[in-house]
Amino acid sequence: MAALESELKHFGGPGLFEVPISTSNLYCPSMEQVLEYSRPMTAAGTRAYPGKIAEQLEGRLAEYHGAEHCVTFSSGFWALVAAVVHCALPDRPEVLVPSFTYRRLADAVNWTGKTPAFVDIEADSQAISLESTRASISAKTSLILAVHPIVNCCDVEAFIQLSEESGVPIVFDAVESVHETVNGRRVGSFGPLEVFSLHASKLINGMEGGYICTSDGALASALRAARAHGSDSAGGVGMNAAICDGHAAFTLAGLDEIERNVDHNKKIYDAYQAGLKDLASIRLLEFDASEQTSFKNIVVEILAEYPHSRDELVTFMNAERILARAHYDPPLHRKSYTFPTVNRSLPHSDRARSLFLNLPCGARVSTADVATVCELLAFLAETSLEAGAKGAEQ
Ligand SMILES: *Cc1c(COP(=O)(O)O)cnc(C)c1O
Repeated sequence: MAALESELKHFGGPGLFEVPISTSNLYCPSMEQVLEYSRPMTAAGTRAYPGKIAEQLEGRLAEYHGAEHCVTFSSGFWALVAAVVHCALPDRPEVLVPSFTYRRLADAVNWTGKTPAFVDIEADSQAISLESTRASISAKTSLILAVHPIVNCCDVEAFIQLSEESGVPIVFDAVESVHETVNGRRVGSFGPLEVFSLHASKLINGMEGGYICTSDGALASALRAARAHGSDSAGGVGMNAAICDGHAAFTLAGLDEIERNVDHNKKIYDAYQAGLKDLASIRLLEFDASEQTSFKNIVVEILAEYPHSRDELVTFMNAERILARAHYDPPLHRKSYTFPTVNRSLPHSDRARSLFLNLPCGARVSTADVATVCELLAFLAETSLEAGAKGAEQ
């Protein structure tokens, strides 16, 4: 511990990490493979048309997810916008979204001309709450946008059933559940469509990009038309939201190595489990061992017995170049907007906002880094951070 303490910025040291460690996956596949997949873009004589490699990627992703069709987009955000436009009931104004989620979800809904209406989460799983969603459905509801939490999945079957019973369509934002299964079936083929992201921070790193999986051929065609550049013969204006081929090539190379990516994440998760097991005041959110998972995100709950608040920890760790983050705080219903939203009392989201911390993970983090982070958390559990408390002694 003494060695650790002398490193800490708080006590006058240089800072615990020289190179920052983040919560982004940042997986970088073999560059030879990236160039190999990129070859059709430059090959003399047979130069591919724009979108050719993206088409190849769509085939691979559809197969990987067990979906009939995959439509790639420039980002997960624009894939979400397209999903809402094409699935929401046109004559109703509101889209139900969880509040405790991805920070730009309400903006995506607003882009479609609909109004986001916030629903609560389950207290134990932090997944979108079935009961809160059911209670929020009204004659104004055009769509349920169910988002998977960042550890494990929401209750997919129950949400599909709620959609059928209520006549309100559903789509899944499955960005954080890539590689996971629900009752043994891989995420990507549930409901009318599921949305994914290829941002560098996510499990499958395409640098930037997104995609939609669907088993509905007519919907896939409509999404492809919507993604296009310019206006179509029917007078529709396209989003100009295609993924670029270079990003598609990067993604294809990453897909070849997905098992290695996940194996590393499992080692990181195991290291956190081992490193935190004796620290009773911090609870690691556990992956469901009965399903396949990516082990990507590391989320801990800071329990009341821990002597520092979640926010104090974020500030302290960031100063040591540990880029831990407050998990989904503020929740969306507590933000201010320049557009209308529908707010209700959401007690579980309000409670969760101050409890959870995202810890560094992904391809650039080693198990030795995890051991150091856990050692720091254990050290802080025994240490007062009153201004200059320890520093003043020296
Ligand atoms: C990151 C994320 C998105 C958006 O994806 P981008 O490709 O970054 O636009 C959407 N939903 C969730 C749950 C996310 O975590």
